[in-house]
Amino acid sequence: MALKLADYKTDTHNDWCPGCGDFGILNAIQMALFDMQIPRHRTAIFSGIGCSGKTPHFIHTYGIHTLHGRVLPFAQGAKLSNPELEILAVGGDGDGLGIGAGHFIGAGRRNLDMVYIIFNNGVYGLTKGQAAPTLKLGMKTKSLTQPNVNNSVNPISLALVAGFTFIARGYSYDVRHLKEIIKKAIEHKGLAFLDVLQPCPTYNDINTKEWYQGLDNINPETNKQIPRTYKIEEAGYDGVVHEVEDINDKMAQVIEKSNEWGNKIPIGIFYQNEHIPTYQERILARVSDYIENPPYKQAISDENNKSISNIDKLLAELRVDN
Ligand code: SF4
Repeated sequence: MALKLADYKTDTHNDWCPGCGDFGILNAIQMALFDMQIPRHRTAIFSGIGCSGKTPHFIHTYGIHTLHGRVLPFAQGAKLSNPELEILAVGGDGDGLGIGAGHFIGAGRRNLDMVYIIFNNGVYGLTKGQAAPTLKLGMKTKSLTQPNVNNSVNPISLALVAGFTFIARGYSYDVRHLKEIIKKAIEHKGLAFLDVLQPCPTYNDINTKEWYQGLDNINPETNKQIPRTYKIEEAGYDGVVHEVEDINDKMAQVIEKSNEWGNKIPIGIFYQNEHIPTYQERILARVSDYIENPPYKQAISDENNKSISNIDKLLAELRVDN
């Protein structure tokens, strides 16, 4: 029986602030899962710590709310253990690009077949709005006593050089466009990264919904506001690596596009490269029965729930005699 959109929602109380961009991202994820009719029991959503960390509580699939900056190790472990699962990892830019930055790089090098979505609002919203890694140098949001003294991370470029094979950006108030990007990220064979611009109306009083809508960005000829985000696919941009020989040219194109900011902010698919083997394919080349007999199917205890792991040989090797 076909699942309804409501089947992907929970009735858990949601205390995100009114107008928070997180709502748009949550809706887009639910709509993507529904459109693709992905079985709920085959889907696991992992989160880190932060406002966005509550996302799995609101999606009726398996959900695991993990530790600060550690969402990717949990999510990758689950995918490796059960390669049949559809895995989505979510978290804020502070969680993923601050304390979790090392895991971000490590994940890119592995290229597991899963999706990582960063809710990018430039601040640590859950802890009252400190500057997060994507906040631009010199910006002074209302919680800061002085302008931000650090330069910002460019998540698109960082994902590219780390090795992510699908890289896209969405905007949380353009839910339908974001939903389509999430679907393409799920379909992608390899590690997909989505940088989602997400206004935090409570603590980021600069990159607001009105700012993205271009309320202060007026066309002098028409006297109309110009929205800051634009869809790169409508501007003729093609991020797909069609031939292996194109990789360097495509990477250069991504770097250039990812540096656009200000009055014109690109959203859409920056890069897609399915010529790189996934981590599962690399494992399969070494462990021929990995898919038929993945770790989650292997017994770890006997009928009395006693561990069947035998480490006597290891202990004997490590033994230090007098
Ligand atoms: Fe959303 Fe910001 Fe409120 Fe957190 S603090 S729920 S990011 S508006």
